[in-house]
Amino acid sequence: MSQPALRCDHRCVHCGATDVTREAWAQWDSRHQAWTVREVFDFAFCHACHRQTRVEISPID
Ligand SMILES: [Zn+2]
Repeated sequence: MSQPALRCDHRCVHCGATDVTREAWAQWDSRHQAWTVREVFDFAFCHACHRQTRVEISPID
């Protein structure tokens, strides 16, 4: 029997907001006719406090 995946949020370490984005590469997937994320990089930006940040993972109850 498989266990359900644990749900989490990624939050800004400065203000705790979840309005954070990471720098990434997208690659065209011809089969699905959509851009898909190929690689996610360490650079993160918080759109709540408008600065570069790091993200921390917090579990969702
Ligand atoms: Zn922030």
